[in-house]
Amino acid sequence: MSDLKCDFCSAPHPSWRYPALTFVAYCAPDVAGESVGDWAACEICHTLIETNDHAGLAQRSLDELIVKYPEASQASRVLLESLSDLHQEFFVHRRGPAQPISVPA
Ligand SMILES: [Zn+2]
Repeated sequence: MSDLKCDFCSAPHPSWRYPALTFVAYCAPDVAGESVGDWAACEICHTLIETNDHAGLAQRSLDELIVKYPEASQASRVLLESLSDLHQEFFVHRRGPAQPISVPA
């Protein structure tokens, strides 16, 4: 569990879990493939999800992606669309409310 990351922005130690059905997402290479089951979310992404700020969520994912892969900024517009599509699939496949992830003592 220690290497758990936010499925939206890859931040370490996400504090929320969203029950979701497994689905296959065809996205930009290396961004996403198959989404297996639940999604983890950090506090910030959780807030964006709960406030239905889909644009903010996609933008945050993109920003974090570019921090990790600076060359991705050249394709930022395409990536933003891909991330929006992926998140849209998440919103379709999510099941039930977010559950807090208990932090091991
Ligand atoms: Zn996050």
